[in-house]
Formats: sequence, C-alpha cells, structure tokens
Amino acid sequence: MKDLSKKSLCTLVNGIKKKEFTSEEVTNSYISNSKNAKKLNTYITTNFDKALDQAKNFDKTRNFDGLLSGIPIAVKDLFCTKDIKTTAGSKMLNNFIPTYESTVTSNLWKEGAFLLGKLNCDEFAMGSSNETSFYGNVINPYGDKLIPGGSSGGSASALAASLTPATIGTDTGGSIRQPASFTGTVGLKPTYGRCSRWGIVAFASSLDQAGPMTQNVEDCALLLEAMSSYDPKDSTSVNIQVGNYNKNLNANIKGLKIGIPKEYRVENMPDEIDNLWKKGVEFLKDAGAIIKDITLPHTKYALPSYYIVAPAEASSNLARYDGVKYGHRSKGNNLTEMYENTRSEGFGEEVKRRILIGTYVLSSGYYDAYYIKAQKVRQLIKNDFDKAFKDIDAVLTPSTPSAAFKVGDKKDDPISMYLNDVFTVPVNLAGLPAISVPTGYDKNKLPLGLQIIGKAFDEQTILNLSLAIEKRADFKRKIPQWWK
Ligand code: GLN
Repeated sequence: MKDLSKKSLCTLVNGIKKKEFTSEEVTNSYISNSKNAKKLNTYITTNFDKALDQAKNFDKTRNFDGLLSGIPIAVKDLFCTKDIKTTAGSKMLNNFIPTYESTVTSNLWKEGAFLLGKLNCDEFAMGSSNETSFYGNVINPYGDKLIPGGSSGGSASALAASLTPATIGTDTGGSIRQPASFTGTVGLKPTYGRCSRWGIVAFASSLDQAGPMTQNVEDCALLLEAMSSYDPKDSTSVNIQVGNYNKNLNANIKGLKIGIPKEYRVENMPDEIDNLWKKGVEFLKDAGAIIKDITLPHTKYALPSYYIVAPAEASSNLARYDGVKYGHRSKGNNLTEMYENTRSEGFGEEVKRRILIGTYVLSSGYYDAYYIKAQKVRQLIKNDFDKAFKDIDAVLTPSTPSAAFKVGDKKDDPISMYLNDVFTVPVNLAGLPAISVPTGYDKNKLPLGLQIIGKAFDEQTILNLSLAIEKRADFKRKIPQWWK
C-alpha cells in the first residue's frame, strides 16, 4: 500500500485531481496510520468504513466541484456531526447523537471532504493540555509523556502524527494556537464572526471561534477558505466576503509594519522563547518588513479578565445540561435530585470549577465587581489593539511561554495551567485573527511557534507573514513513530 500520509493537504488535492493517486488510497493511508496510533488516544469516534465508502464513490464520479474534493478529514469532537456521536470530551454527552450538522463541517463536506472521525479534546474545550477529557488524555507525538496542548489536543496530535491530512479545532482562549505551537503545526484562529458557531458545542459564546489546523501555511489558507462563510443561523456571523486566501497567498511582505509589544516580554520568560521571538523579527526584517516597538498597556489584565468572562459564559451555556434536554441523565427521587445527580456525575472537575467561578462572578453582589469590571477591561484591551493597528499591519509575539510540558505537571495547579494562555487570550478578548506558525525548537528539541495577530478580517496578511516566516524558518517535523 502506498503511504500518502506525509503529503500536504494541497499536494493531496492536486494529486487526486491529476490521477497520481486515488481518494481511496489517500483515505486508506490515514486509516492505517490512525489504527496504529491508539497510544496517542486522539480519536473518540472513528468513521473509517463510511469514509472509505465515500472515497470509493468519489473515485467513481471524480466530481471536482469543491476545494477539498476527495479528502478525508478528522475533526475536533466539539463540532456536531449529524448521526455521529458528538461528545465535547464529556461524559455528559457520551450518548449524544446530533440530528444536525454544524455549519463549519457542512461547509467542508460541500467542498468535497468527508469525515474520518471525531478527535479527542478537553471537556467542553476547557483546558490547555487535553487532560480534562472524559475519554482520557491525549499524547503528543513528540514524546510519550508529553501533553499535546489543549483544548484541541486530539486535533493537533492527530495532525502531527499524520493521522489526518488537516483538521479543524476551536479557539476560545488559545485552543488552536497553543496545541499547534506544541506539535509543530500551523493553527489559525479567525476573526470572531468569520466562521459560523452554529452547531459547535458552546463554551464561551463571545470568544469561541473555529479555525484550521494544518501542516503548513498554504494548507491553512485553503482550509480557512473552505470552512468560512456568512451564516444567518449564527447571529454573530459577519457578512463579509470570504477571501481567496490560498490563491492570494504571497510571501512578499515588503513594507508591512510589524509591531512588537513590550508587554509580552513577561517575567521569567525562558531565554529560548525570547530568542525565538528575535529570530522571527530577523526573518520578517529579511523579508522587507518594518519592525516597530509598540505598547499594549492592558495586556497584564487579559488573563484575569478572560478567566472571569469565559467561566461566566460557560456557566450560562452549560445550564442546558440538566438530564432532560441532552445527553447523560442520572436517577433521583425527585426533579431537583435528578438535576443534581446528572450534573455531579456528568461533568468533570475542571468543568465544575468553571461553573462555580462563573456563577460566582455573575451572582448579585459580585456581578459589578467581577463580571462588569472584566467586560470593561476587555474593552480596554480591544482599544489597545485598535490604537496600535493605526500604525502597524500586524503584531508578532511568541505563541506560548514554554514548549509542551509533561502529562500531570500542571494538572493539579489550575493557576499555572491558566498562565500558559498568557499570549493567546488577549486576541480572543479583542476578537482578532491570529495564527501560530512553527519557527524553531527548544533545548529538548520540542517545537515552538510564533504568533502573528492581525486586524479584524485581515486573515490574508497574517497568512502572508506566516508564509514569509515559514520559508525562512525551514522547520522540519521529524518525529520518530514510537507509538506504532
Ligand atoms: N486554555 C483556555 C481555557 O481553558 C482556552 C481554551 C480554549 O481556547 N477552548 O479556557
């Protein structure tokens, strides 16, 4: 059997078109890799037989209407898939089979892709290490004791281990960019409103965005184009035309102004992160960009305000899981007891922590002191970016304050876990697009990414800048397949 699993998404799309190989051969490569990678624990549900049927059907008709014709794709298990179990990594939804398809996944199917399976994630997308999933933690292909990042950890790990040619995740405070950085892959969080949230299990509705996770920047541009759309079913979807991100991809970034925010030089930041950042600056200078020092003065308040706003919205969104409307239901002697037992048994520890924080900051007496204050701070963070973007085209920062950490290292210390999101959360609070592009390695040969933040709906510029970095970083994902 030909192993086609190391090829990029764009190479696969073109190769199928040119009859270099069939969709069935491509699909078989990924199924075989996936079956051999149980140790990584990336899949919650597989759809291999159906995917293979779809591939065979495609090979008969060879209908090339879409951007992703003949491509199998595994997706984060937060996207509702019609007639296929969707768990959000929770026991609460262990038996939930949606009767509808999320807009983002249906966009992928319209473009000719089909579903390979549903990928593990932190429970209700709450986490930075994929250790909060009811279905067990996911392992990073870079090491058998390493976390892959979270919450889209299953997606990142499956992508890096060549179990899927590309994937999609969601990002509320960094869940696409942080796992991308930890696995040497590319991950983009689009502008809030670019991808529809309809049919995605909600975490914090004013922050959640779906986005592409891919092997390289070119693939990222293609997948972003395929999944984006205006959707009247999502009231926060924005009716702006989707760009031809792939066709317009251009590494000529001469004259673009890039801001370097001094507030991102956080205390105790390891030298290797600082050096990576400097390297990124040199790459962009080499490509003709103009580097400017900027200030985003409210950055230090982003993490505390995120960890008020996100749990507040989560506690409200999760109120629907009461044993009646969806999923898991426990027994009880009366209605209240049934609710209590359902929620005590159905939710895991981190989700309960968020519900407690969320209801606390929304309760009368604390609402003004915490929730309203956090919302005001959120506006100040957005104002900082608006002001900075008057003089610059994009911002360059590290994606994460460290490389992937070990399983168990931060699990019992939620604050240190939350601190890992320091560079990613301001972007969600401001609703801006941002990408993580693999740029180098730390001393243990673990991948590190740089983050590029763009103006609202200017995904093209951050893709172009990433391409310029990618060409110079010459990052090679060499992973021994120890899990086989
Ligand atoms: N790590 C962050 C959190 O736990 C972000 C999660 C996400 O983006 N879904 O809230």
